[in-house]
Amino acid sequence: MSLISGKQPIAEGKTKRVYLHDEPDKVILYFKNDITALDGLKHDVIHGKGYINAYITKYLFEKLEKAGVPTQLVEYVYPNIIIAKKIQMLPIEVVCRNIAAGHLVKKLPFFKNGQPLNPPVIEFFYKSDELHDPMVNEYHLQALRITSEKETLQMKDYTLKANRVLKDFFNKRGLIFVDFKIEFGRLSEDNLVIGDELNGDSMRLWASPDGRKAFDKDGYRSGDALDKVRETYIETFKVITGEEPLKEGLES
Ligand code: 5GP
Repeated sequence: MSLISGKQPIAEGKTKRVYLHDEPDKVILYFKNDITALDGLKHDVIHGKGYINAYITKYLFEKLEKAGVPTQLVEYVYPNIIIAKKIQMLPIEVVCRNIAAGHLVKKLPFFKNGQPLNPPVIEFFYKSDELHDPMVNEYHLQALRITSEKETLQMKDYTLKANRVLKDFFNKRGLIFVDFKIEFGRLSEDNLVIGDELNGDSMRLWASPDGRKAFDKDGYRSGDALDKVRETYIETFKVITGEEPLKEGLES
């Protein structure tokens, strides 16, 4: 708490607040307990969620760094803070899919839920709640000067590399890595890193091929009771990290 006490956030999103760090090349990411869906129309608070999601982000970002995929991570501070490199976030979401699910099946019904996608499918979405994050392609990104040609290639390369690393890791844990969303930020020109967060909120992780048991946010999206949603967050922490969450952290 002392890291942010007395400070005003420089930005606030649905699940995080961003504060300036005393060192100008860093920022403080504070993970909130808020949970939202349907572009923010559905909103609740779950104690311990900020802890769980900050910790899983740190855990997975470290895994990516080790595999040569750069991220924004500098340091994790218990329970729910990540000190991160200060980067210029791009206004896009990058989704990578190994198995057809969610919006892909809804919008393009010739894909069937659970259908394997090989090679994986990468999609870009322009971030706008008002426009419901419309899909754009890499030509739009360059025409809009959101990314250079080199950065577009870098983004695709890092996304596919991250996908391989995470898919292997989850497979070893007996889980099916269906899809995930990441965001990129610019450290310097033509030098992107994965930023923001990576946890159960930003992926589909199935325990069975039909997706009935899953360690992700889809239960909340489809109306599960909050107690059950909270239990899923705790299970997700355990299954991803292989560790027991701290009781005190879950109450934070
Ligand atoms: P879909 O496009 O099928 O809704 O989602 C594809 C993947 O990206 C899912 O793993 C989903 O959790 C993630 N995703 C899509 N949009 C968002 C978003 O706005 N926030 C987060 N955290 N994840 C998202």
